[in-house]
Amino acid sequence: MFNSLSDRLTSTFKNLRGRGRLSEADIDATVREIRRALLDADVAVPVVREFTAAVRERALSAEVSGALNPAQQVVKIVNDELVGILGGQTRALQLAKTPPTVIMLAGLQGAGKTTLAGKLGLALKEQGHTPLLVAADLQRPNAVTQLSVVAERAGVPVFAPHPGNQGAETDAVIGDPVGVARDGVAEARAKQHDVVIVDTAGRLGVDRLLMQQAADIRDAVTPDEVLFVIDAMIGQDAVATAKAFEDAVDFTGVVLSKLDGDARGGAALSVATVTGRPIMFASTGEKLTDFEVFHPDRMASRILD
Ligand code: GDP
Repeated sequence: MFNSLSDRLTSTFKNLRGRGRLSEADIDATVREIRRALLDADVAVPVVREFTAAVRERALSAEVSGALNPAQQVVKIVNDELVGILGGQTRALQLAKTPPTVIMLAGLQGAGKTTLAGKLGLALKEQGHTPLLVAADLQRPNAVTQLSVVAERAGVPVFAPHPGNQGAETDAVIGDPVGVARDGVAEARAKQHDVVIVDTAGRLGVDRLLMQQAADIRDAVTPDEVLFVIDAMIGQDAVATAKAFEDAVDFTGVVLSKLDGDARGGAALSVATVTGRPIMFASTGEKLTDFEVFHPDRMASRILD
């Protein structure tokens, strides 16, 4: 991810090396290059506009004195602004004062929710928590089985609807996902699991009924965290998708999945700014251990490396 953006920015900065004070024209030329690099990386237009305006303003008013030469100063400004659009601070999971902490996962089909349930379950287990995964995605054929497989790999128990409730391999709505989510949380309370992770259904595109279902599940289980999982390869659709989920479930944090891919990464660079919600975790592969807490500063350094 970000290889091409990273190369473009690095070569822009290379042109500034060894220069004395930068003229307004130099800064404008640099900002233009940065704008093009971000747009080519599929970063959302309003985010690019805000970003480049901030870089330009700060570069114009930067003092030449100090330890940094003009080129280094521009790199530092771009770095700071990247950290800013990525959400600034690292944000940890909000645990409930009275367990169980309820974490609901939402996102399009294929975004990586089920995989994330296993990854998060494993990470929490390793921190000494006793998570329970709840299979409230009854929409997709095999979703319940897939979550059970992931749970077993993570060594974490799963609450799934009774097999009798599960229909054949069909796309029809089977069972009652809101009821399953509610029962799963009750089960966690009864069996003293301190965290419940509720997997929910998604569609390939934004779908009104499924959005309503996600909103109903949210109302039924009043989660402490609603994590919106988004495939970092989604490109320009990122903004519309994130906004649709924001309207439906008012998520509290974002998880970027498939950051190991070689797409252009615009989603990753746009969602925190357009939704105002922090990116909390990154998924970086298919293995359950390919998962990390998201640090905006480290991601910015990686891009500018
Ligand atoms: P869901 O429909 O949102 O539950 O998505 P899944 O968890 O089923 O993931 C869809 C596909 O993406 C599966 O084949 C996963 O193995 C794969 N996947 C999930 N997360 C990642 C990731 O971070 N990197 C890569 N390369 N693949 C992933």
